[in-house]
Amino acid sequence: MAEHTMRAAVLHDIGKITIEERSRPRPGPREVLVRVAAVGTCGSDVHYYEHGRIGDFVVESPLILGHEPAGTVTAAGPDARRHRPGQRVSLEPGVPDFTCPQCRAGRYNLCPKMRFFGTPPIDGAFCEYVTLHEEFAHPVPDGLSDDAAALIEPLSVGVWACRKARVAPGARVLVTGAGPVGLLCLQTARAFGATDVMVTDVNPARLALARDLGATAALDVRHTALPEAGFEPDVLLECSGHPLAIAEAVRAVGRAGRVVLVGMGGEQIPLPLSHVQTREIQVTGTFRYAGTWPAAIALAASGRVQLDVLVSGHYGLADVEQALTAGARDPALVKAVVRPQE
Ligand SMILES: [Zn+2]
Repeated sequence: MAEHTMRAAVLHDIGKITIEERSRPRPGPREVLVRVAAVGTCGSDVHYYEHGRIGDFVVESPLILGHEPAGTVTAAGPDARRHRPGQRVSLEPGVPDFTCPQCRAGRYNLCPKMRFFGTPPIDGAFCEYVTLHEEFAHPVPDGLSDDAAALIEPLSVGVWACRKARVAPGARVLVTGAGPVGLLCLQTARAFGATDVMVTDVNPARLALARDLGATAALDVRHTALPEAGFEPDVLLECSGHPLAIAEAVRAVGRAGRVVLVGMGGEQIPLPLSHVQTREIQVTGTFRYAGTWPAAIALAASGRVQLDVLVSGHYGLADVEQALTAGARDPALVKAVVRPQE
């Protein structure tokens, strides 16, 4: 492969990804060039691949998906001094404008000018090299695998959700949905000091994994309805996105509880408002994360949160489509990881 080119997996149409040779990106001011080692696949990548859009984000021209990357810094652009070549990094895949009111208030995840990997029209990381602002490339210790460094992104979703929910020592937490984000919310809640964490799902393999990862109860809601479980959480971390599951879970939350909607539940969902009203329950959404990478890296590096155990398969760049469709073929799959150099 020539020095100035790279291979990229490009989404051209619904269900159609092709491998192309593209020019290798050049790091701009304060940017680093990163050789991508591992990229986690996410439900949103699958959704773009299958439907070509998520809400208002529509794929209108060829797009490289992938927003959970880790790799090694190979070059630095003008005025980029934070990293030396050879530094292994986990990439925070969204760079805001740094100047709008939301950025200035510290809520850069809400920046309307956010440029986020794999979200139209910004290319993502299913390719051999990417460039990124040096402050969004976070060093990882040697003990953290490439897979784990990539999965710092979904772990950040869990860290942000637990912060928004104010999970504190002794908290009782209900996590609805045992997909990758649910399993990371579970582990983060435990690391934040939650003593009782119930996880619900309809998938026995995922519930078994939840038990292994510290759930004090794992409820198969096909066999036992949530109200019969008699669990009254302080915090609900909603990761299923299933409208009826959301309503039932909110109804379980105790007085002055907090509900954080992490999963995508569609445009409208039924909410038991009188329950929310009379118990002063706070309900909030979450959108990505801000300032979570250092904590997420520390949680993973210390072993408080396990990431490698979530990886169920590896795919080379030519097999990105296989990676994106693996979940539909194998219900036991949790996380597929793409290795663009293979
Ligand atoms: Zn901004």
